[in-house]
Amino acid sequence: MRETELYRHLLGLVAPWEVSAVELSVEGGRVDVWAEHPRLTRFTCPKCDQVLPVYDHTEERTFRHLDSCAFLTYLHARPPRVQCPTHGVLQVALPWAEPMSRFTVLFERLAIDVLGTFVRFAMSPLKREAGIPTTL
Ligand SMILES: [Zn+2]
Repeated sequence: MRETELYRHLLGLVAPWEVSAVELSVEGGRVDVWAEHPRLTRFTCPKCDQVLPVYDHTEERTFRHLDSCAFLTYLHARPPRVQCPTHGVLQVALPWAEPMSRFTVLFERLAIDVLGTFVRFAMSPLKREAGIPTTL
């Protein structure tokens, strides 16, 4: 399996998105992955779901993803924009990230889980002091 195919699976990318390049920096402790779509791909307007051709692309954005074998992993892409007759020029929804986020959905899920565990741990002494069961 080629590295681009491996990372397509690891990132959970589905058509039309595919991995175009993977760069490993052993010294930097990171893996950089670039996602692209085929040139004539059509996308939906994020407000009305009308299928439209690509109008242009934004600047390249970088999304922090879960580590790959202890290497920091970053996903790079130039999000496409469509020109909807009703809503104007808008960036399409990316399947791996929420709008404006710098993290992939999987990374955000991990961060939320870790933070929730930390908050429950930190609150335990206060709950005991207040007589609240610590299992809540
Ligand atoms: Zn629209």
